[in-house]
Amino acid sequence: MKVFKFGGASVKDAESIKNVSLVLENQGFENCLLVVSAMGKTTNALESVVELYFDKKDYHDAIQTIKVKHIEIAEGLFPKEHPVFSEIALFFDDVESFLRRNKSPNFNFVYDQVVSCGEMISSKILSEYLNDIQFSNQWLDARDFIKTDNNYREGTIDWELTTENIEALNPNLCYVTQGFIGSEENSFSVTLGREGSDYSAAVFAYCMNADSMTIWKDVPGVMTGDPRKFDRVSLLSNISYEEAIEMAYYGASVIHPKTLQPLQQKNIPFYVKSFLNPTEAGTKIGNSENNQKEESYILKENQLLFHIDTRDFSFIAEEHMSEIFSYLAQYKIKVSLMQNSAISLALCLEDKFGNYELFSKNLENNFNIKVYKNVSLFTVRNVRMETIDQFYKGKIILLEQISRQTLQMIIQS
Ligand code: ASP
Ligand code: MG
Repeated sequence: MKVFKFGGASVKDAESIKNVSLVLENQGFENCLLVVSAMGKTTNALESVVELYFDKKDYHDAIQTIKVKHIEIAEGLFPKEHPVFSEIALFFDDVESFLRRNKSPNFNFVYDQVVSCGEMISSKILSEYLNDIQFSNQWLDARDFIKTDNNYREGTIDWELTTENIEALNPNLCYVTQGFIGSEENSFSVTLGREGSDYSAAVFAYCMNADSMTIWKDVPGVMTGDPRKFDRVSLLSNISYEEAIEMAYYGASVIHPKTLQPLQQKNIPFYVKSFLNPTEAGTKIGNSENNQKEESYILKENQLLFHIDTRDFSFIAEEHMSEIFSYLAQYKIKVSLMQNSAISLALCLEDKFGNYELFSKNLENNFNIKVYKNVSLFTVRNVRMETIDQFYKGKIILLEQISRQTLQMIIQS
């Protein structure tokens, strides 16, 4: 069994969906499970619907715009009388009626019920299209397979239930399903975190003991840096799971950080390839013996730098740390880098849920706090000491850390 994941950019319009079938033709469409993201920027558009709803503004037009877009794409793929059109309409009716009836003030809960429809629709369109052109497949509702807790917007997988469900699939068939979504015990949708479709694919691959997993992207594979941000980057043909995990942790957006662990545990080869050039080898991620130690560059933008000093000049000790870290956990703020000295702690933070002011408030009694907003964390992996000076030029560096393999600096954007 092979698991293929097609991201939003690979299904953004009718032409792209047709291209998916070319990729499958080239790769062979036997025993494979396709995991698909929402089309193009649909997830962002659905997020705006939820925001309008909570701001008590009109959200119907926003839904209508998303609906029209999907119908236009479907018109490029199906004849007028095709049943897919009423199926698409039904998904939007469901969203409308959910919002009309909803009484829950829980933003994250509502978000998941609304935003999950992006993947439902894209997978439906892809599955129907492939069936029409004789790539016969079964459409699956991923929420019947991937079970999570009720931590909306950041669901944690219930591995026991999920494995049991996925093991029941027939490894000799082809399936099309959604990335990014699962469901909790009452069957409400739960999303797995933005860009979580790679992770869904890895969950399916793990539970099915897949032979390989491939994510199809608009770049040739994992590069030594994001080509949109850095010049002179090159393709990494072979890297280890460990190197890939490190890169993802430092913020390489080509790989979702949670994706590697299930694959590494079962030693499932993981490919990152271009859907524009499917015959090219791309990147293979696997065992450590083939790790290519190339200098690579990762820029993680939109970070916060907190300087936290004790007020009474006491040392930053274990009790302080545990207090500070319990607030970080409570507010779902992630630490990208930390450094401490006698009376101060510097934390580079990623605040996905917009909670940093609450976090800061809680610490104000015992600490002096200084915050730098909108800073970037720049990481160089496998840094070469001979040429390290070039990275300092022209930057305002707020903090720096250097280890045997890795240079990290927090820079003013
Ligand atoms: N559609 C979701 C997102 O844009 C999940 C994904 O693309 O992986 O975040
Ligand atoms: Mg996406």
